[in-house]
Amino acid sequence: MAINIDNAYDVAVSQFDEAADRLGLSQAMRAILRKPKRELIVNFPVRMDNGDVEMFTGYRVQHNINRGPAKGGIRFSPEVSLDEVRALAMWMTWKCAVVGIPFGGAKGGVLCDPHKLSRSELERLARRYATEISILIGPNSDIPAPDMNTNPQIMAWMMDTFSMHQGYSVPAVITGKPLAIGGSEGRLEATARGIQFVTREAMIDIGMNPEESSVVIQGFGNVGAISARLLYELGCKIVALSDISGGVYNPNGIDVHQAMHYSKEHGALRGLPNTEAVTNAELLTLPCDVLVPAAIENQITGKNVSQIKARLIIEAANGPTTPEADHILNDRGVTIVPDILANAGGVTVSYFEWVQDLQRFFWAEHEINDRLESIMTRAYRAVRNKAQQQETNLRMGAYLLAVARVAEATEIRGVYP
Ligand code: GLU
Repeated sequence: MAINIDNAYDVAVSQFDEAADRLGLSQAMRAILRKPKRELIVNFPVRMDNGDVEMFTGYRVQHNINRGPAKGGIRFSPEVSLDEVRALAMWMTWKCAVVGIPFGGAKGGVLCDPHKLSRSELERLARRYATEISILIGPNSDIPAPDMNTNPQIMAWMMDTFSMHQGYSVPAVITGKPLAIGGSEGRLEATARGIQFVTREAMIDIGMNPEESSVVIQGFGNVGAISARLLYELGCKIVALSDISGGVYNPNGIDVHQAMHYSKEHGALRGLPNTEAVTNAELLTLPCDVLVPAAIENQITGKNVSQIKARLIIEAANGPTTPEADHILNDRGVTIVPDILANAGGVTVSYFEWVQDLQRFFWAEHEINDRLESIMTRAYRAVRNKAQQQETNLRMGAYLLAVARVAEATEIRGVYP
């Protein structure tokens, strides 16, 4: 049956089905793992600055919690749907299992355009949403974190709201918080640092020298911008960057520090000196060695895959490649480091943050980064070895490891009652 790529949940289930086939999972196990465990839809009012009251819809989905409490970010976007949140929750389950951290998968979202909300409207929305989902979240049950269009300040408001209802501070209820209230050193850069580690490992495997490689990065949010900086520091030539205003290109290389400065000052990359403007669609098909999609789902599709020139794709975003494009790229011999492995640095340092909050004992930045490096490189190598043994690609290698771990935990715990 053809997959509807506009439905991220269909894509996520089809990826799972492929792994389940290869693993020979039982019908019962398949049925359990295909469905999210819990889904909460909340409709709630927020008072706007002009005195009007507007209704918003939010979601929190827990896919599987057999390996530990539910974990996953919260996104604010006009595009969020229940099926998208379901897919993202399922991907979180596999992501936590691939890197071997003791969490299940969850995701949340609020349908809104955060760029159209004032700071105080955003605060009231975040606090009310935190209250609405407080029947699910907690330091032992479900621990949210930032995702698209959410940040440490929003996590602080949510943590404060949850704590107000308890009557005492509960820092471990949420990760990605500011340092002042129990955040972790290195969390802000963690996803990008993980991207840097897996890129380095993948380059070694395919015999690519960072200093002779050109990189295109789509997306200039927390993940895209810091990945650009860290890949630049690894020695790569960053030839193109993009944000929602479009892309900027210079085949001779972009000074990433200058681009970060420019974007902060002007609110966008558009007009960056010494670059030529390209559209977001053109950006993906520019000549380069490495492509890093760090924005949203469904960017590399059946429509543009024939024009993709990169030899290595590092999926910093969740779900950037459709299954159709994925198969074509594999046939062409393009190496893809899949999202559930490539961008797992964020949730890994979220795990460190949660552990530090529970223990009230905080680690130095070098300890965080060293532990992150060992988890990411070990996970990358385990996935690569699995893929080689099974004569498959890295995505399937990652799925085989992750799904087997979750299935084992589910099997051992048994069906209640
Ligand atoms: N939102 C991030 C992700 O997609 C981080 C989740 C977390 O830290 O819990 O992996």
